[in-house]
Amino acid sequence: MHPSEELLAGFACGEADVPRRALLEGHLAGCDECRSALSALTAPGAVLLKALAGEPPPDELWDRLRRQVVSMPAADTQARRSREVDDGLPLPAAVRGELASILPPCQVTWRRLGRGVRYASFAADPVTKSSLILVHSEAGRSVPAHLHVSDEELLVLAGGFTDTHGRHEAGGFMAYPAGSIHQPRTDGDGACWCLVRTEKPNRFFGWRGWLQRLVS
Ligand SMILES: [Zn+2]
Repeated sequence: MHPSEELLAGFACGEADVPRRALLEGHLAGCDECRSALSALTAPGAVLLKALAGEPPPDELWDRLRRQVVSMPAADTQARRSREVDDGLPLPAAVRGELASILPPCQVTWRRLGRGVRYASFAADPVTKSSLILVHSEAGRSVPAHLHVSDEELLVLAGGFTDTHGRHEAGGFMAYPAGSIHQPRTDGDGACWCLVRTEKPNRFFGWRGWLQRLVS
């Protein structure tokens, strides 16, 4: 599956928040189809710019730009920061780049979500408050059935799983609307890693739901 044109357009305009950018960057890195769709979406803006009459920028603007470039932190500052995200995680470079923009550096604390399934909240966007969550499931395990209280987007980083929408493999992007319910089951031949963007915590059923209501 691929992100919708609406999501790609928002990404092109700079509207996507950090968790969504991380997911889309991760998908775009491996999807030629979406990269072409994205360049087609950004092309009209480029054409409009070209059509504008050329006018040299004032000297003062150049001076200001030069000063800004000189005062920018060295490129390796960002590389160092991204290395502070746990390097044992299978995160594509594009995702690490996005995470590096979040301060303070992320700390990974795993929580158990069921037998063989765990998750870690990476970061919340300071403006939209949406969260970026990493989920790891061992081969053959299921994430407990849950209701998406808000829209949820998901990128498969490694391995694969099956739910009511079919099978999803590494690089696949899914958008689950608020109100949808699923119970993903990881492939039997290997672990699955996913990145998830969500605005509100999912609601679990059964004893997990009870526990969730008790602690919230
Ligand atoms: Zn795609």
